[in-house]
Amino acid sequence: MTLPKAAILAIGSELTAGRTIDTNSGWLAKELAALGITCVLQIACPDDMDLMVQSLDVVTKHADLVIVTGGLGPTADDFTRDAVAKFAGVELELDQGSLDRIRDIFERLGRAMPDTNQSQAMFPVGSEVLFNDQGTAPGFVVTHNQSSIMVAPGVPREMKAMYSKQMLPRLRALIGGDSYHIAQRVLRTCAVSESKLDRMLAGVEEHDVEVAFAVKEAEGTIMLTYTARGEDKESTEARVDAAVVDSERRLGSLICARGTQSLPERVIELLQAKGQEVAIVEGESGGRLSSFFTNHQGSEAVLKKALILIGPERQAPFLGTNVPDTLKDRALALARKIRDQEQVAYGIAVIGPGPEPEGNMTLAVVGPKDEVVKERGSSILVQQARNRFLTLAAAYALDATRRMLEENTDR
Ligand code: ATP
Ligand code: MG
Repeated sequence: MTLPKAAILAIGSELTAGRTIDTNSGWLAKELAALGITCVLQIACPDDMDLMVQSLDVVTKHADLVIVTGGLGPTADDFTRDAVAKFAGVELELDQGSLDRIRDIFERLGRAMPDTNQSQAMFPVGSEVLFNDQGTAPGFVVTHNQSSIMVAPGVPREMKAMYSKQMLPRLRALIGGDSYHIAQRVLRTCAVSESKLDRMLAGVEEHDVEVAFAVKEAEGTIMLTYTARGEDKESTEARVDAAVVDSERRLGSLICARGTQSLPERVIELLQAKGQEVAIVEGESGGRLSSFFTNHQGSEAVLKKALILIGPERQAPFLGTNVPDTLKDRALALARKIRDQEQVAYGIAVIGPGPEPEGNMTLAVVGPKDEVVKERGSSILVQQARNRFLTLAAAYALDATRRMLEENTDR
């Protein structure tokens, strides 16, 4: 069986002018990928009749399935339905059921339907109307040049509901219903570069599995998604499992979380399982490490205290001694001090890079059995992307804690 190829056409001058970011296309492409349908082309097109017709011509040449979003509103700059009709060489005709429904929506709001809304009940001859339970504009499906063109409103909430409720069942039927199976697994890594991961995982796709990398900057992790597609459920699942087992063997403790679990959730889970707590001292990272915890439920049970002390002058009174000369010694001293003071299992400190454009971030984790301290150079990065650098440093500290927790756990 060959799967259809898809293309997405996002309509709206606000998109091409950069006033609105096109989030619809990416969302749709990802949904289609989950069905095993590849999106081969995406076009953003302004509210311009000729360009719309030309764009439809291009996308239908490359795809069997085209999803169009936007331009279904009642105003003069919304004419996607006219463009599709023109492209398909057919007239628009009124769908009385849709008109009654739109009128009904206005009546329930206690208003008369403006005449302009009548246009929302007009569809290219031969199309199938798609119900919109979130707004007034129905969508539609029409086939032309062997391509199925599915049209949804531009408002993301309406588009998503229409995709899930109206388009998805049709797409499933198109690709052969349940006979097609997609198996997916997710692994997360932290503190390892993409290029290194790429080398370490070279050849994993020989399990007939697709491996996709996504850098999650806000989490300081890299997400690895394994996808296998096939007609038989069991063998498809087995292939993706084999690829994951193979990757786990190669990556070992570099894997920081699995499936939908994030790195902070993993750390919270490990701490909860052991009934242990952490306490944190942060410098320039200003709470990023603490908020990795507090963003998740369960953090109150495991995070006993978090202090923000920026720079040696403020850290000295807390330490109660002279501040050690090197960043590494200072981070270790802070982690030990907060652990002992709070009587918790793990003390974590993240400090640096200081006010200079170049500097090191240093992190220390002091656990029941061991201590680790790491330095991470920043170079010019600090100035250009300070936020990203600080987030990464906090994530690395969290990951070092995760490793220590796993090493101290009999799995
Ligand atoms: P309406 O009936 O609300 O007018 P519509 O189908 O005419 O819907 P548009 O007028 O194109 O849709 O867009 C409505 C809203 O949805 C706008 O706020 C627009 O910025 C937003 N929007 C449209 N297309 C996209 C897109 N591709 N990605 C994200 N937002 C979008
Ligand atoms: Mg509109």
